[in-house]
Amino acid sequence: GLAVALTACGANTSGGGGPSGATTNSGSGGAKVGVILPETATSARWEGFDKPLLEQALKARGLDPDIQNAQGEVQKFTTLADGMINAAVKVLIIAAPNSEVGAAVAKKAQAQGIHVIDYDRLNLGGSSVYHVSFDNVKVGELQGQGLVQGLAELAPGKKPAEVIEIEGAPTDNNATLFTEGQKKVLQPKYDAGDYELVRSQPIEGWDNQKGGTTFEQILTGNGQQVDGVVAANDGLAGAVITVLKKFGLNGKVPVTGQDATPEGLQAVLRGDQYMTVFKPIAEEAEAAAKLADALAKDDTAAADALATGVSKDPKNNRDVKSILLTPQLITKDKVKTVVDAGFVKATEICTPE
Ligand code: BGC
Repeated sequence: GLAVALTACGANTSGGGGPSGATTNSGSGGAKVGVILPETATSARWEGFDKPLLEQALKARGLDPDIQNAQGEVQKFTTLADGMINAAVKVLIIAAPNSEVGAAVAKKAQAQGIHVIDYDRLNLGGSSVYHVSFDNVKVGELQGQGLVQGLAELAPGKKPAEVIEIEGAPTDNNATLFTEGQKKVLQPKYDAGDYELVRSQPIEGWDNQKGGTTFEQILTGNGQQVDGVVAANDGLAGAVITVLKKFGLNGKVPVTGQDATPEGLQAVLRGDQYMTVFKPIAEEAEAAAKLADALAKDDTAAADALATGVSKDPKNNRDVKSILLTPQLITKDKVKTVVDAGFVKATEICTPE
């Protein structure tokens, strides 16, 4: 383990810390773009990655960004949106705490002629014309694959392997898609009796603390027995690992994750977390900025040419024009990929013991 970890840690210590994007002003004339991110506590990504990367990508296109965070509060999200609508932004980029408030804000903005992009999270039942995200079903599939790989390595021959699933917020369409992707891989295992699903529990608001206490209840309710844990992101994985530690089970039970956060990558290098999913947020921010640039000029033909993918909104049965990027499975031997991509610095994840 240490040798592999050192390979990741020794590599490219000078790299990282975000992309050095080109700074060509494509002439949107300094149009105002409002961005509202959903939370701070559910994942390190929003403030640590999305915010600086969006700021850089939007400014590089000559746009004038105002980037705020709703701190998980529906009321704050609405208030921030009202402020941006009053400030006459040309484009509003939103990742909402839940679909309902995201859809309501989009409708209000569109009534004022403002273009709306659903960023990362698709607001079900909404009217946003564009969506930028990753292939979120694929994210779930990678988590399923990671768990299968981890169980083969850490619990070979255990039949049925007992699995607990700690899932994301039921009001976040992404959480639904992650679960759908996991099922593609894991349902056949459950059906065949190779694995047994102890319980699958969605966690309101992606609340990491609630994820930990819920996991502990399920674990103790199952006689402190577990062979593998699906945790929907690195924040929930961290909470699960804290509980596993209490029972001396950390490192013995594969735990999945997502976001390739510095904490998540550290846990992967220590062996407490089996995998994470790397979603290159620089690409997501860049895609959103390109789209915003086209829309700021009311050039919907250019925007349509960028958003050639499709997302389904089952709530109002419509297709949303989308840019969907590709996630990557990161196990211990692949951590170097994330460093080499410039997403994190080796020094951020290789803390000396
Ligand atoms: C995002 C994940 C994030 C989660 C919690 C999801 O919508 O896609 O990257 O971990 O929300 O913030």
